[in-house]
Amino acid sequence: MIIYDLCCDNDHRFEGWFHSADDFTEQLERRFVSCPQCDSHQVRRVPSAVAIGTSAAAAPGMPSVALSGTAMMPAGKQVMALYRQLIQAVVESCEDVGEGFVDEARKMHYNEAPERPIRGAATEDECEALRDEGIEVIRLPSIKDEELN
Ligand SMILES: [Zn+2]
Repeated sequence: MIIYDLCCDNDHRFEGWFHSADDFTEQLERRFVSCPQCDSHQVRRVPSAVAIGTSAAAAPGMPSVALSGTAMMPAGKQVMALYRQLIQAVVESCEDVGEGFVDEARKMHYNEAPERPIRGAATEDECEALRDEGIEVIRLPSIKDEELN
């Protein structure tokens, strides 16, 4: 959603909400945009301040335009998208040792196996035990693909 500051040929200023810049252009060309005060279709965009990310920059009454698509994304989806990236990065960069994770992590720690990023199955207790031995492990809840979408 984009908010544009608009002005008619009688210098009435008002805000218009549009899905995108293209949506604005299309609505303007089809004369769907009119001044709420005088109904004029001679509408143009007026230069306005741009607020990205920080709401502190936009003082009350100050015209602002939301430019960032991601800022308008529902928080939950955004978090899941980031989480999905994280999981994918882990999956792609780590060797899957499956049930042998705890053994392999110990071997690496005690220089009995080459050090490398690994992933696999471990219980919370097993992770605790590894941490007690000074082995850094991160537990990622397993999430099915469809839940990430
Ligand atoms: Zn007007």
